[in-house]
Amino acid sequence: LYNMVQDLKGNIRVYCRIRPVFRADTKSTIEFIGEDGSLVISDPSKSQKDGKKVFQFNHVFSPAARQDEVFKDTQPLIRSVMDGYNVCIFAYGQTGSGKTHTMSGPSGGSTKEMGINYLALNDLFQISNERKDVINYDIRVQMVEIYNEQVRDLLVEDSSTTKYPFILSIKPFVFLTMHTLEIRSCASENGLSLPDATMHYVKSPTDVLHLMKVGEVNRAVNSTAINNRSSRSHSILTVHIHGKDTTGSILRSCLHLVDLAGSERVDKSEVTGDRLKEAQCINKSLSCLGDVIMALAQKNSHIPYRNSKLTLLLQDSLGGHAKTLMFAHVSPEGDSFGETVSTLKFAQRVSTV
Ligand code: ADP
Ligand code: MG
Repeated sequence: LYNMVQDLKGNIRVYCRIRPVFRADTKSTIEFIGEDGSLVISDPSKSQKDGKKVFQFNHVFSPAARQDEVFKDTQPLIRSVMDGYNVCIFAYGQTGSGKTHTMSGPSGGSTKEMGINYLALNDLFQISNERKDVINYDIRVQMVEIYNEQVRDLLVEDSSTTKYPFILSIKPFVFLTMHTLEIRSCASENGLSLPDATMHYVKSPTDVLHLMKVGEVNRAVNSTAINNRSSRSHSILTVHIHGKDTTGSILRSCLHLVDLAGSERVDKSEVTGDRLKEAQCINKSLSCLGDVIMALAQKNSHIPYRNSKLTLLLQDSLGGHAKTLMFAHVSPEGDSFGETVSTLKFAQRVSTV
């Protein structure tokens, strides 16, 4: 039933979410948010007439939208995973626009403000429980990071980190020398995956919270090595579903929850070396993601999955019967206007075709 509803709406959906204005000294660039998914923004430095831009999405969440409201709109999509559909949810936008807030919730926040990752898993456990007489589900998760086109496991539990926080300062060296994971096809999964990334069975929301903490610590540890690395990498939480019904038939699917690297443009004349390489990797993988989604929407015969690690890894969950949802995040402050326009243009490009 969930799928019937979802199929009617098409396989690619784009939502926009605008975070609240934090600085009292700035006026919001948001002029109008329509019930129908329309959005009007205006450039504070231009005249009313010249600075206006209009966009159209499946839905726009205003700064007042709560986490549970945002989740509610994605819930049918997430639930379709339990019926065997592959689903990808992306958080796109410049650093500081609210991607991590949407996916994970505020860091160290209360369970009241939990993001999609936690709420989704919570929901999947509930469905698994509701259907337990008919289908036996296994739910397992992996969490990795893609940084400079290299994939790294975020769920390696290291006792030195958890027990001796003071060791954190030397931890980055361990990570930097750690081998990167390869994307390969794996007999026990559908299509391409990361057979070498640790796979964790989860049975309850508490298990999920624990793993999210581990992932967060591992990501944070890296940020001390290279400044602000967490915003320069993509993090992917993958939920693998395996179901077996009473007749013995098997269902396999996965849900990818992706917190993308910040989409802001870096001034090439100002950065060099590592920062430039980071920026180029991010640029390339984000535009490649856009190309893949566009090619799928246009039903092209060639889909350029192989142009980035991100799209290669998600290959089997993008296109076909898979469902894709992108949240385009916007910082409403005037000085973010340029980035806001480029975020919305990107989102519009993948949504209107
Ligand atoms: P990003 O991951 O895109 O860099 P964050 O999710 O870290 O951005 O958000 C930046 C800051 O804004 C954080 O302190 C976060 O808690 C806060 N924030 C983001 N979106 C919202 C929102 N919708 N409501 C309240 N606070 C938010
Ligand atoms: Mg973030």
